[in-house]
Amino acid sequence: MVIDFSGKNVLITGGSRGIGKACAKLFASLNATVIITYKSNKVEAEQTLSELGTQNQHSAWQLDQSNAAAIELFYKELLQKYSCLDVLINNAGVFVDHKIAEVSYADWQQSWNETIGTNLTGVANMCYFASKQMIAQGGGKIINVSSRGAFRGEPDAPAYGASKAGLNAMSQSLALALAPHNISVHIIAPGFVQTDMTADLLNSPAGEAIKSQSPFNRVAEPEELARLAVVYASSGFEFTSGGIIDLNGASYLRS
Ligand code: NAP
Repeated sequence: MVIDFSGKNVLITGGSRGIGKACAKLFASLNATVIITYKSNKVEAEQTLSELGTQNQHSAWQLDQSNAAAIELFYKELLQKYSCLDVLINNAGVFVDHKIAEVSYADWQQSWNETIGTNLTGVANMCYFASKQMIAQGGGKIINVSSRGAFRGEPDAPAYGASKAGLNAMSQSLALALAPHNISVHIIAPGFVQTDMTADLLNSPAGEAIKSQSPFNRVAEPEELARLAVVYASSGFEFTSGGIIDLNGASYLRS
């Protein structure tokens, strides 16, 4: 099977770092035109953009996806520059510690608002405008990055677990709603991945125990998720729409 995304526009949220960056580099190497978003780290986003090569019209856009109005404006400008959108990878997300026994009520609310606003409502809004475009052009693919925490629980970050469980349910609902429009919706649920999000924890004394959660005795590399995203974005995998695939090295097996 030859995988080639020539002529395809692939939008990757949170593409400046971590998993999103690995996706951006892999899709660009397969000739896609890659559009990345970031929240505030412009330097890192431009560095990533510079690593994608100059053969296509890749671009980086600042976007806080917890801001509904900003998303609407973003798509307006995006679709003026690019006439179609073939693939949306909803990767951007936040993990905010907010232990229920320790945080103030104000911090508790702030953590819920930020997490749900970014990881769930933000993704829903990204899907809304992408779907409008994909329906108009006759199809497309949406890949949503969830988490093992949706199933296993997140005792120190309950909003994160809830946001990803909600993301799974939303993605499956959209898989049903969008299939008649030739749009497939795929969900990837990683366990620990070696990125900035987990660096402190993995480099702490708890790091070895985290690795040993998997019988492979390691965590995932961002490139492993990128390879899966490439599969879902390729033609011929539409019928996996609505499914949730685990990427956790058998660290958590659900029935
Ligand atoms: P990361 O290294 O922390 O990078 C997060 C990316 O998202 C950055 O590009 C960041 O932009 C962007 N972002 C954050 N908030 C945003 C917002 N409000 N609007 C737009 N962009 C925003 O994260 P990662 O570890 O690669 O995680 C990527 C995805 O995988 C997330 O959805 C995460 O929940 C999921 N996941 C990760 C792990 C893991 O172990 N790492 C495990 C399971 C699931 P800036 O650079 O500007 O901050």
